[in-house]
Amino acid sequence: MKKVYKAHILYTKEQSRFEVLENGYVAVDADGRVTGVGADLASVDSKDAEIVDFGDRLLIPAMNDVHVHAPQYRNQGIAMDLELLPWLQNYTFPEEMKYADPVYAERMYRRFVHDLWRFGTMRACVFATIHTDSTRLLMQLFQEAGMGALVGKVAMNRNCPEGLQESVEAMVQGYESIIAADNSQLVHPIITPRFVPSCTSDMLRACGELSAKYQLPVQSHLSENKDEIAWVAELEPGSTCYGDAYNRYGLFGQTPTVMAHCVWTEGEELELMKRNGVMVAHCPTSNLNIASGLAPVRTFLDAGIPVGLGSDISGGHDLNIFRMMVYAIQVSKMCYQQNHDRKFLSLSEAFWIATKSAGSFFGRVGSFEPGYEFDALVINDSDLNHDHYSLLHRLERYIYLGDDRQIEHRFCCGREITEPKEKCEAELTN
Ligand SMILES: [Zn+2]
Repeated sequence: MKKVYKAHILYTKEQSRFEVLENGYVAVDADGRVTGVGADLASVDSKDAEIVDFGDRLLIPAMNDVHVHAPQYRNQGIAMDLELLPWLQNYTFPEEMKYADPVYAERMYRRFVHDLWRFGTMRACVFATIHTDSTRLLMQLFQEAGMGALVGKVAMNRNCPEGLQESVEAMVQGYESIIAADNSQLVHPIITPRFVPSCTSDMLRACGELSAKYQLPVQSHLSENKDEIAWVAELEPGSTCYGDAYNRYGLFGQTPTVMAHCVWTEGEELELMKRNGVMVAHCPTSNLNIASGLAPVRTFLDAGIPVGLGSDISGGHDLNIFRMMVYAIQVSKMCYQQNHDRKFLSLSEAFWIATKSAGSFFGRVGSFEPGYEFDALVINDSDLNHDHYSLLHRLERYIYLGDDRQIEHRFCCGREITEPKEKCEAELTN
């Protein structure tokens, strides 16, 4: 059924400014797409529509997380005193091995999907593990919840414990079984080589071939850490830069591609990303925690390279994308202190990155312009709005001070998304 929602509407068509409609209206068709947005009822198509009045609440696009590791959710907030490579060996890999057990996977993945929902993230680009069954389970949980996700069975066959290695043939077979079972509107597989050090040339080539054959998007990590970059140059001596080590296998923008971090991306790699339209998943908390360096977001924006925000659990410690906007602004201010040519991010830029820019990886998502899928959050900020703040200040205060308690309704592609089950049967009966 057609709906018209009335509330204080805030969104970003362009990065430089907010659209603000006090007591505005947004019309959504039965397929979940926005048909119109305006300051009064006459400006949208309300014929035969149910009108839902959210009163004094804020209505904004829902959040998108373009880089997160679901099987690291248990490790959130621990081992924050290590750099990338020892952190992988000592914490990440041992935890990911547990996902061979589907019961453990369900216990953890339910909590993960529930908490994405809690913080208003309706779309996510997710790393699972090498395990085909638990990857499919994670996809099912997103589907049951009604949330959008691109979920990657992780490809890896070197430089990690044996229990996390898989042959190229087994990787291809596992992916093909996932692809064959994919009948969802909002949840799909994404080709996921963990990063070059974890994948032999044969593995990278097979990933590129799968992506081309089934026209699947790609996600991985890029230029996070200087030791890692030097290692990649040794492992793929024919490549001219880290990005080229993906590009030569068809894993760098030949289909929609998102690369996490890009802290040290410059020169040829920057040009290649621009030419191929590769999105950067900027993970500011991860930059700070793993001490790899600060990604130069302004450089990407100036170059016209698409950018989204990633929580990067558990390199990042916070799943809340609103908080990620705050960190992105703060990190950009640290970059600005180092180099005054890199102007720090404004609030509208951070919001646009988290909504419309990140949302473009999932289709027409992240704005209320006509034709966009209606992904939205209704925020009741009455506890934060104690002295007649302007609508923009109310939104800013919510971004800086609010949390899940103020989110009253969540929508993904026009459907209201109710709370997913947090615990699995085994936990409930214990
Ligand atoms: Zn990551």
